[in-house]
Amino acid sequence: MTTITDAAPELTTTVTGLRCRECGEQEPVGASHVCGFCFGPLEVVYDHEAIAARISRARIEAGPASLWRYGDLLPVLSDDPAHRIDLGTGFTPLRPAPRLGARLGLDDLWIKDDTRNPSGSFKDRVVTMAVSAARALGIDTMACASTGNLAGAVSAHAAYAGMPAYVFIPHDLERGKVVGAAVYGANVVAVEGNYDDVNRLCAEVADARGWGFANVNLRPFYAEGSKSIGFEIAEQLEWTLPDHVVIPIASGSMLTKIHKAFGELTHHGLVEGAMPRISGAQAAGCSPVAEAFARNSADVRPVKPDTIARSLAIGNPADGPYAVEVATETGGAIGSVSDAEIVDGMRLLAETEGVFAETAGGVTVANLRRFAEQGTVGRDERVVAVISGNGYKTLEAVQDAVGPTHEVGPTLEELERELAG
Ligand SMILES: *Cc1c(COP(=O)(O)O)cnc(C)c1O
Ligand SMILES: [Zn+2]
Repeated sequence: MTTITDAAPELTTTVTGLRCRECGEQEPVGASHVCGFCFGPLEVVYDHEAIAARISRARIEAGPASLWRYGDLLPVLSDDPAHRIDLGTGFTPLRPAPRLGARLGLDDLWIKDDTRNPSGSFKDRVVTMAVSAARALGIDTMACASTGNLAGAVSAHAAYAGMPAYVFIPHDLERGKVVGAAVYGANVVAVEGNYDDVNRLCAEVADARGWGFANVNLRPFYAEGSKSIGFEIAEQLEWTLPDHVVIPIASGSMLTKIHKAFGELTHHGLVEGAMPRISGAQAAGCSPVAEAFARNSADVRPVKPDTIARSLAIGNPADGPYAVEVATETGGAIGSVSDAEIVDGMRLLAETEGVFAETAGGVTVANLRRFAEQGTVGRDERVVAVISGNGYKTLEAVQDAVGPTHEVGPTLEELERELAG
């Protein structure tokens, strides 16, 4: 049988090791995420010459309709195709959003619709890389510390890969997120505490159990998955870069990796032109990165989250300082909005563009609205808003604001009377 996937170019590993982002110390590839010398975060190192020798627009365009079309720029750890988990994650639609743009006073607004991923959020991208790395490293059990979406993504991809999964979540999470993990047969561990408590526990479990924690000991590979959003935006804009990208921030990883992706495409000559301005979006109830940005400082002070945007409720964001750096360096901004504005943002997006996003999408749209009002985002700019999760997982957030608009008995007469108002 010949399919597009079968005809796709072979991917071979271009990863040469891990390197500390703070002190530069190198380590061999493995399930490890902090530097043995300074405890800084580890990052994947690639053989950029080997990548340059093979990469081209045509090679990417011949690839599968998933994030694996960018396999040359992702942390492939093995040449064995069985170690490449492809549940169809990525290559989500990038659509013009003229009606939302008109409401916000923006003439060239686009939506990157990551509600369309297999488990309904952008987390499927990072998990694709983590589970594939786990497979290549011989790890047999997947796990994660989750604010909700990661639990669903790990559970789905582990099921597809035939691996058991343990997902750790705060005990008071939205029902849709608990169900959306447990249905895949994962072990869902509800922890009494907030996400930061869950995360601390998971660091200990990772040491004790040797499991592959997507966002702990597999974090260097996991984080690289977010680059695929940046690659897709450029390819979908016919190999050009937008002027401005607005991105929701939890740990700050997605924002810094989309920036990295634009840099890599430029380095390899796949796109030309200026680096887009990159802006971040937080909820006021958990805005440590926006606060640091407002102080003009990369000193991100931990907070105790209290917001309906549970997927963004990380009080001590690992990549917060790097996110501040990126926004500052590219001429972007980082803002925050109230829970009421988040609900308005969700409704506005759904009503104008037919996209039902979760609270994180409301955070992005509401911040974009403010940026437009303040002139932080210009009317003429080509703006891409990253909509990162599906609204059906957070019905609680909007269910009190929307309901039946008319109630009638089952007769035409009653309906006519009701509609005549
Ligand atoms: C996790 C998450 C984010 C932010 O991710 P970070 O990389 O941690 O900043 C944004 N939106 C949704 C829906 C998420 O689940
Ligand atoms: Zn170090």
